[in-house]
Amino acid sequence: MTSDLPSLWTHEPHKHLEFKPGHRVADIDPDATPGFRGSKADAPELQTERNERFAELQERLYANSRSGDRRSVLLVLQGMDTAGKGGIVKHVVGAGNPQGIWYSAFGKPTPEELSHHYLWRIQKAVPPAGHIGVFDRSHYEDVLIVRVHDLVPPSVWEGRYDEINAFERELTDAGTTIIKVAMFVSLDEQKKRLAERLDRPDKYWKYNPADIDERLLWPKYQEAYQAVLDRTSTAHAPWHVVPCNRKWYSRLAITELLIEALEQLELSWPPADFDVEAEKKRLASC
Ligand code: AMP
Ligand code: MG
Repeated sequence: MTSDLPSLWTHEPHKHLEFKPGHRVADIDPDATPGFRGSKADAPELQTERNERFAELQERLYANSRSGDRRSVLLVLQGMDTAGKGGIVKHVVGAGNPQGIWYSAFGKPTPEELSHHYLWRIQKAVPPAGHIGVFDRSHYEDVLIVRVHDLVPPSVWEGRYDEINAFERELTDAGTTIIKVAMFVSLDEQKKRLAERLDRPDKYWKYNPADIDERLLWPKYQEAYQAVLDRTSTAHAPWHVVPCNRKWYSRLAITELLIEALEQLELSWPPADFDVEAEKKRLASC
């Protein structure tokens, strides 16, 4: 670490953010900044520094895959509209090299996707070795919007929690570290962000009239998120709960979750698989 800025965290951020059994979605304070003892004024410099750390680790992950390391990382972003998923993609993951990023957004399924099992489109999107996958929404929509809107009967979505746990287990067994992040914005803050989208022509593209319909179903979504956290936070793929009313905080926090996961992989630079000295001589002679 090049400065003491990371020590603005009281201790490892993931410990503050990991979902623990018994935690209630209703008790989440989206304004909170758990574990961070700095202020908004500290954020830009710290974000820049930690983006660089993330980028270096990402490059190491990618470099190792070139010499046979099968490991990868998958960041799963879930949250209501305006929670800031796009900002995480742009300002956090965007600090990495696009060569090693495997981004997928999951919207309303196409007719083709609907004709398959709900995990079909997800399986096709899992990151290859050496990559950092990003799911901007995910298979969790199949127990969130699908449950809230009764798009399939309860007898069908009920079985999905266990199925998702088993699917994620397969992924982690195959060498993918999964970081699941539930992003929580408050109803008031969402209103402000939607209003801004309506006030600014450069933000119209982000606005969808259906967002208001989802907003009206907030309590049902809270219930559906609670079930997701209770039933799919596993030892192999735990959930993290990130308060998102302050974008500077959520970006710093998710950057730390990525860094922490990458550091756990203990990535060194892969050794040369050629004779360095011999190659230097060959190069010098031509
Ligand atoms: P956005 O992320 O703003 O582009 O919106 C995508 C929309 O697609 C959201 O309203 C999601 O809830 C919806 N969506 C994503 N996955 C599914 C799914 N499996 N079934 C139905 N709607 C979905
Ligand atoms: Mg949207």
